[in-house]
Amino acid sequence: MRRDLYRTLGIPRQARERDIQRAYLKLARKCHPDVNPGDRQVVVRFREIQEAYRVLVNPAARQLYDRKGQVLPPRKEGSPAREKEAASPESRGWENIIRDVFHGETAEVDTGASRGEDLHPVLEVSFQESLKGARKDIVYQREAACTVCGGRRFAPGAPVGECGDCGGSGLVRVRRGPYQVKKICPRCSGAGETSTRFCAGCGGKGRRLVTEKRSVQVPAGSDSGTIIEVPGGGQPGKRGGESGSLLVTVRVQPHPTIERRGYNLFRTVPVTLAEAAGGSTILAPTAEKKVSLKIPPGTQCGQQFRLRGKGVPLPGGSKRGDFYVTVKVRIPMVTDPGARRLLRELEKIYPENPRVRA
Ligand SMILES: [Zn+2]
Ligand SMILES: [Zn+2]
Repeated sequence: MRRDLYRTLGIPRQARERDIQRAYLKLARKCHPDVNPGDRQVVVRFREIQEAYRVLVNPAARQLYDRKGQVLPPRKEGSPAREKEAASPESRGWENIIRDVFHGETAEVDTGASRGEDLHPVLEVSFQESLKGARKDIVYQREAACTVCGGRRFAPGAPVGECGDCGGSGLVRVRRGPYQVKKICPRCSGAGETSTRFCAGCGGKGRRLVTEKRSVQVPAGSDSGTIIEVPGGGQPGKRGGESGSLLVTVRVQPHPTIERRGYNLFRTVPVTLAEAAGGSTILAPTAEKKVSLKIPPGTQCGQQFRLRGKGVPLPGGSKRGDFYVTVKVRIPMVTDPGARRLLRELEKIYPENPRVRA
């Protein structure tokens, strides 16, 4: 027993051509393999719908089917490329479905599919996190289908009728240069239906703002202005378009004593007169760990030391910039007579007049 083609499209036997088109468009939209990836049953169902539509939309083929229950195979006169295309519904995009529905009538179809917008939230991280890298949660708002109306835009239970602007087809004609172009109806957004009562939850937009939480990995060595992309984390696409990206901009909180320039770090460490004059090993902590620095005897105030590979990790993580430590000698205020005598004796041992060379 053959399948009933009318039942496949869910239409009565006396359905008009327009009803056939509409039923097909509606089912094709729901059962398109692009919408249900990986579902083999949907592929079979989609083929059945296409087959039923192919027969019923053609008056001669429909008559033959009505009278004798016979279905002729698809005509072979189409271009080979088109035949191949028809054999594989998975490879067919939206445009082709709409082209099928309105075949011959239009030179071009604007499906209105568009990629969702990118979102640009800012993520604040500590100086330490920026050097080490960190997994951080970011909370932001994006649009999503309204949960009250399921994205249909109408108040639940409201009477729904045919959209007057497009006659229920979901498409309107516009002129574009020499062509008549079919565009998604702006009033009903291609749904073909409208209502007098819109959903209060979303104001009839079908979408609402929802608060989203995503976990993002801040790479080690990130600086202020580093952008982390989360594909698909932006606004949802329109009419089958892909979602935009979440482009998280990192903002690093400044460190009270360490400055970053490129991949190098700079800090100043105070030392005592005795440490500078006699040499010493001092602690010069980076933001991540304590690093010791050996300063030689006779270290001058303002002298800079380089600690190789103790700076910021470079992208890839195997190399690092350098850490520069500038030494500032704290000169004590010597008022004690005994201490002053000691200084004078020290000067006798190291008799140097620095102004001679100056
Ligand atoms: Zn709603
Ligand atoms: Zn409409």
